[in-house]
Formats: sequence, C-alpha cells, structure tokens
Amino acid sequence: MKKLVFYIAATLLTLTTYAQQAVDYEGGRLIVGDGSAAIENGAFVVRNGHITAIGRTINAPAGATRVSLAGKTVMPAMINVHVHIGYEKYTSWGAQNYTAENVLDHLQREAFYGTAATQSVGSSPLEASLQFQRDQQAGKFPPASRFFFIPGYAPPNGGPDEVLREATNALHAINEVSTDQEARASIRKMAGLGIKAVKIWVDDRRGTYPKMTPEVYNAIIDESHKHGMLVHAHATTLADQKAVVRAGADVLVHLVQGEKLDDEYLALLKEKKPYWATVISLGDPTAVCEHDPFFEQAMPATVIAKIRATTVRRPLAPSCGPPAPNAAARETIIEYNFPRMIAAGARVVLGTDTGIEPGHTFGSGEHVEMARWVQLGLTPSQAITAATQRPAELLGLMDMGTLAVGKRADFIVLDANPLENIRNTRKISAVYLDGAKFDREAVLARWKKADAAR
Ligand SMILES: [Zn+2]
Repeated sequence: MKKLVFYIAATLLTLTTYAQQAVDYEGGRLIVGDGSAAIENGAFVVRNGHITAIGRTINAPAGATRVSLAGKTVMPAMINVHVHIGYEKYTSWGAQNYTAENVLDHLQREAFYGTAATQSVGSSPLEASLQFQRDQQAGKFPPASRFFFIPGYAPPNGGPDEVLREATNALHAINEVSTDQEARASIRKMAGLGIKAVKIWVDDRRGTYPKMTPEVYNAIIDESHKHGMLVHAHATTLADQKAVVRAGADVLVHLVQGEKLDDEYLALLKEKKPYWATVISLGDPTAVCEHDPFFEQAMPATVIAKIRATTVRRPLAPSCGPPAPNAAARETIIEYNFPRMIAAGARVVLGTDTGIEPGHTFGSGEHVEMARWVQLGLTPSQAITAATQRPAELLGLMDMGTLAVGKRADFIVLDANPLENIRNTRKISAVYLDGAKFDREAVLARWKKADAAR
C-alpha cells in the first residue's frame, strides 16, 4: 500500500513537472491567425499548456526544452463550428451509434487533422452532450478536439434532411416547436442550462417539409438574444436568408442555392454583418475520388470502395462519377455570390457539415473548405483566419484561435507554407493540443487495426 501511494505521488510529481516544464519552439514561420504577417524565424514558449511568449526574438526561460521548427510553418489549430457528430460508425450510420465512445472517436479524427474544437450543430442529444462536455472538461477522456454543441429547433416533422432526421428523431435530439410561446419557453430552459447558441432550420426543402413560421423564428431569435445566446440559421434560398438576417440571426449556414444575390440582400448584409458558415464543399465532388492519401488514410477501405463504386450522384452522399447535371450552373452562382457576400461584410467562418450522411471523414473537410475559399478569392491568410481566430470569436473561446500570449497552445506544425499554397495545410507534421503533441500515429494505427478486423 505504501509503495502504491509512493508510486502515485511520484507519478503525479513527474506529470506536474512535465506540465510546468517550459518548451521553447524556435526557428519556424509562425502564422498568428489574425491576418497579420507571418513571423519568420520566430519562436514561442509553451508552459502549462499555454503560450507564454511569442515573437521574432524572445527570452526563453532557463531550463526550457528547446524544439527546433527549422523548415516548418506553425498555424493555430482550427475550430470547426458546424458538424454532426456521433452517428457515423463506418460500418453503419444512425442513432444506434451515438455513444460517448463514438463521439470521442469523431473528435479524435478532428484532432488528427488539426482541429482543436468542434461544434456539433442541432443534432446532438441534450443530456448526453452536456454529460460528455462535463466529462471531457474533467479530463476523463484521452486527448481529442474539444466538444461543443448547440441545440436545434424545427417545426414538427421539419428540420434536417431525411437521413439525419431519422437519427435525430430516434434520440429526440431536435426541439420541435409550433408556437412562439413554446419557442420562448424552450429557449429559456436552454439558457438555464448554460447553452450559448441554438440552431434553427428555416427551410421547407423545396416544399416537401413544413416551414418554420416567422412568428416562431422571431421568438427564438428574440428570446435567445435576451439571454445573450446566438442563433445559427439554416437557410438556403435568397428569400429565407434575407428573412433570417433581417430577423437578427447571428450565423448563416449554407450558400444561397441557385439564385444570384440582389442589392436588397447585400445592403442587409452590410448592416448586419452575420457570420457565415459557407459549407461549400459539402456540395462538391468528394475528395476521396482524387485518390489522395491525405483523405484516405483515416478512412476505412470498405467506405472508400463503396464511395468509388457509387457513380450516381445523390445530394449530400459522397460518390464518384460524372459531375451532377447542375454542377456548372452551381459553380457559376457560387463564383458570383461568394465575393459579393464577403464584400458586403458576411464574416466567413469554418464549418463542414461532416457527419450529416454516411461516408464523410471528420477533420479532412476543413482543408477542402479553406482551399475552396481561396479558389473563390480569399487570400490564404484570410482563409486561415476564418478557420481559426474567427470561429474562436464566434464560440466565445477567448483562449483559442490565435498564436498569442495567454492562448492555449493548440497548433499545427506544417512541412510547407500554406500562405504560398493553401493546400499546404494538408502537409501536417504534428498537431498539438493544450501544449501536448497529439499522438496521430497511435490513433491512426487504431483505426487501421479496426479496419483490418472488419
Ligand atoms: Zn448541418
């Protein structure tokens, strides 16, 4: 017994010493994440999981462990404000897979690809999600992306597409509200639980779904704002985006599909400046079809084979085949609308919708979305800010999102410079969370083993 106590005490001492031990990372290109010029040949010090000094020249504390970043570029870890976590299991997809273990697996996939915080939007069951957050904050899980979630609101039988609907119905994960009183009462309950934001679906899926009424979404937005909560709005038509922005929605999710933006909307955007989770790549051909190991490495062979064998396109589901009949028209609209949204003041923020249907890999979509923004006119620096500092600001994570003194040491070490080519965010050498190197090799080996056993 005495021996055991001594052993525990010694272990704790070792861990504490390790945690407090300063590490001096030096000689790398540092992308701060706030749009400022990169610090060439810069250095930073990490202690207790936080950045305590950063700059061109710094005074490293005596005894600090030195790590060379020669030839490397460091950027802040990403923050993804829009995914649907918990339902994908790669052998099946649905409510039966929603366990803490599976949520953790998805968060480790996010971490593997460099995402330090991940927000599940509208589809996560309330009690289980609150419990998971408490457990993760208490350190009960191995390292992973930090979990955040926001509850979702829809009219009865409305909300997500039919695949996600079936799963969320089984878990009663969506709050169905028909009247403004119901909506306000539910938002007050969420505020009491410490919830910081909610999602509304304002979409009738081309007339196939009941539509959320203005009475209901006005009540949700008004009551949320009274409690300091933000509202994310799924709206995909010009009329719906106008309506929710006018009503005060804080975050737009998705592109306006198939319509050019008009001056009335652009004026509204100039006035309101909403955040905008573009989720462009969800509608793109999947990167899996490119045979790129970056996407394949964490994906089961059976899933890759299935996607490759699927050549008939279906909305949201990954497939490899000829372009969808509307692909060129979609692209023309995106090229017209995207720069106008940005110029009007919409604040782009990283979201991918990963997990909404079978066959998406958590974490890799972030890199596709950033490249898409650059293709459409953002600079790589602006794209990185939209994936790091801005989502941190949106989520109220004051200690995340940039490389700066006082921030958590969540960062990605890259073998090439993404300011020269945004696709270099895929050349990941290492990911650090809370100052500790995330063991990418170990999780990858575990996924490969599970894949081989199938
Ligand atoms: Zn979504």
